[in-house]
Amino acid sequence: MQDDELLVYSYDATSERHWPDAAVIANTPELVQQAVALCATYHVPLIARGSGSNLSGGTLPILGGLVVSLAGMTRILRVDLAAREVTVEPGVINATLQAHLAPHAFFFPPDPASHRISSLGGNVAEGSGGPHCVKYGTTSHYVRALKVILANGQMATCPAEPTLIDWPGILTGSEGTLALFTELTLGILPKPPAVGTLLAGFDGLPEAVTAVSAIIQAQLLPSTLELLDKATLDTVRPFIDAGYPDCEAVLLIEVDGTLEGVRDQLSRLHELLGLLGASPITVAQNPAQADALMAARRAAYGAAARLSPHLWVQDVTVPRPRLAEMMAYVLTISAQEQIPINTVAHAGDGNLHPLIPFNPDDADEVARMKRADAAILKKAAELGGSITGEHGVGIDKLPSLPLMFNEDERAVMAAVRSAFDPDGILNPGKAVYPVIPQASDPGSLAVEPSSPALYRPQSEPELIDFVRSCYHNHHPIYMGTHSARTANLSLEGLNRILDFDADNMTIRIQGGLDVSEIETFLHHHDLDFPVKTLGPHRSLAALLSEGWPNMLHMGYGPLKNWVLGVSVIDGQGRLLRYGRSVMKNVAGLDMPKLYLGSLGRLGLIVDATLRLVPWATRPVHLSFPVDMMTSDQLMALVDALNMMALGPQGLWLAQNQGHIMVQGPDLDRKVVAIRHILKDFGIVPIDADGVSALSDIRRWYTSQERTRQQEGGTHYFGVGRLPSPLTAPLLYHQPDGSGWISTVKPEPFQFFRSLDSHGWQVNEPLDSGLTAIQERLVHMADPRNLFTHLW
Ligand SMILES: Cc1cc2nc3c(=O)[nH]c(=O)nc-3n(C[C@H](O)[C@H](O)[C@H](O)COP(=O)(O)OP(=O)(O)OC[C@H]3O[C@@H](n4cnc5c(N)ncnc54)[C@H](O)[C@@H]3O)c2cc1C
Repeated sequence: MQDDELLVYSYDATSERHWPDAAVIANTPELVQQAVALCATYHVPLIARGSGSNLSGGTLPILGGLVVSLAGMTRILRVDLAAREVTVEPGVINATLQAHLAPHAFFFPPDPASHRISSLGGNVAEGSGGPHCVKYGTTSHYVRALKVILANGQMATCPAEPTLIDWPGILTGSEGTLALFTELTLGILPKPPAVGTLLAGFDGLPEAVTAVSAIIQAQLLPSTLELLDKATLDTVRPFIDAGYPDCEAVLLIEVDGTLEGVRDQLSRLHELLGLLGASPITVAQNPAQADALMAARRAAYGAAARLSPHLWVQDVTVPRPRLAEMMAYVLTISAQEQIPINTVAHAGDGNLHPLIPFNPDDADEVARMKRADAAILKKAAELGGSITGEHGVGIDKLPSLPLMFNEDERAVMAAVRSAFDPDGILNPGKAVYPVIPQASDPGSLAVEPSSPALYRPQSEPELIDFVRSCYHNHHPIYMGTHSARTANLSLEGLNRILDFDADNMTIRIQGGLDVSEIETFLHHHDLDFPVKTLGPHRSLAALLSEGWPNMLHMGYGPLKNWVLGVSVIDGQGRLLRYGRSVMKNVAGLDMPKLYLGSLGRLGLIVDATLRLVPWATRPVHLSFPVDMMTSDQLMALVDALNMMALGPQGLWLAQNQGHIMVQGPDLDRKVVAIRHILKDFGIVPIDADGVSALSDIRRWYTSQERTRQQEGGTHYFGVGRLPSPLTAPLLYHQPDGSGWISTVKPEPFQFFRSLDSHGWQVNEPLDSGLTAIQERLVHMADPRNLFTHLW
């Protein structure tokens, strides 16, 4: 390419410029592979690029090197509505996928304001968010499987199946530093039949933020809950006149559901906001008015960008109850530094974007902008938030990572990166703080592992001492009593609730607490953790480490969507905390994903922060016999349920019965609609209380598990659609493909876990490149194999 052509690859949506040495437009996986292999051979930095719309310097070739543009890989390869899944190439633009799905009444929930320009590969690499995330979650909730080119040029398939490492999980949000994605399999959802939009004006910012908390406390769950401050309103109004009022702040709210459900929610919102003094309150009367209101929100960046030659877009997240404090602080800083700051916020997520217009040629203004920016980041971290909710670290936030991570935590992240890319070729100088991991000396011994027979630490420091002494003595750790000579551990003494914030809908709990006790506690507060597994009396640490299928997968997805953070002790006794009590957080690698479901091989989970949902009404359980149904009839029923926007939250087959669990908002209408579908299949279900039904099935599974233990048998666990969902020896089956348990290995499956008298085993015929990375990861986390026998 000529220099002028390279110009295109020298910038992104930040204001910096760095020239690459070369660029290649790679339109096939093979071309991407060749480019990576070449860079690996000659140790040349390689920067993956989608649309270049990132706001963190993520695609800037700061060390020169080769930019590989994937923007030309634009094919939508597969759409499977019944499985709620698409497979696309990485260059497909977010809005193109939405347009493709719209005629089928489906959508891809993550909707960054840049959806018309940003690529899905970029969305996945950044873990992007958008206004709809308050209800539907971020991009990471929708990444099922990936095809990638690894740093050494090998192709690899990162499966959706349960391997030791959640490959799609750790790769999402990795900002081009771990691998290049050449194919993405993403979850999609049926579009709710009705949407309502409401705009509420407020006399003050604190009043608007109070209303946000009140809406959440009232267990209304909007699909959009955006806040614009006065400065933003005054900037946007001349740009797009959508009827935004002249006031101190507005909330732009969208609700979705059935037509009746939307009417109900709008009228409840109207009443609530009226009581809180909102005025005016405008309900969009038609889709055109709703679109105009939304377009004005999306124009906030564009409008602010007209104020000065450059616009600095900040992106921090705080626990939602701290939003008012954070926004007030931004106003203080604005006054203190005498620099205008417009703030828009995904208020429901506690994610705010202070927008700072500035002139790069005015050194004094640049200095004030930078001071304001640094102060905002520091404050967000102090309030328990994140320095980036959705825009990523890139080069911009790299120096600020110490605000959230200590040296050990940064070193372990750097080691994870090295496990994927030992020569540091992929996007060097981005996303992960460049710490060379040092094997720290775990220090002196406080505990002799084999004495007492079962060690029950009562505090985190005691557990750390125990692991360090095991490291020192090369003693593998066993969970529970194994033999008199082994280091036997029980976490039952670590059973405290460390933090419960009903307003934020989060809880932080120690790993030894019994899951059923957690459920009881939450239900007393009208909240729920929407992950239910068959094991009835399991500790939280076991639940998070073992990777059981979520019985409510159909409505809430996998466990990982509901864990915001974990604290772990690694195999050298280092205490590492990743994640915070915030709904959006893309600071550094998504480390919690590495520990969830990894059977403790990468670290012992000490506590976790969970995201909760409202639990105002008890769930409804519908059951029906399946022995008269053929497999085809059953699959047709599953597909029909999967196509419903307001369908069930759980679906499983066990004991010759089909079981449907319905919970959450709009419960009665959902039950009626599901009954309708069942009627079409000639099924009249039996109603039961969901909580009792859950206890029953757990009791039944406990007896199956006891039999397995007595008879020395094996239970096999996997995910994926079974060709014949009713065939014995299936014990338990979620026929939408999200989980099965069998007494014999079902033949078509290569990836599965099994539980036998030796504990958990994982069968995972991974591509060789992934196997090598996994070995490096396990060695990094647990160099003396202390954690081989935990679960
Ligand atoms: C006006 C505007 C509004 C925005 N609004 C939002 C918003 O609401 N929410 C939000 O989250 N973001 C927003 N962004 C930021 C940006 O659009 C997102 O980060 C987006 O996901 C980037 O996509 P992209 O295709 O432009 O990726 P790029 O900018 O090209 O790349 C981003 C990162 O991903 C890596 N990458 C790209 N493709 C691949 C691949 N195939 N494999 C591996 N790594 C890859 C790159 O190396 C880089 O680190 C906005 C940006 C602008 C300019």
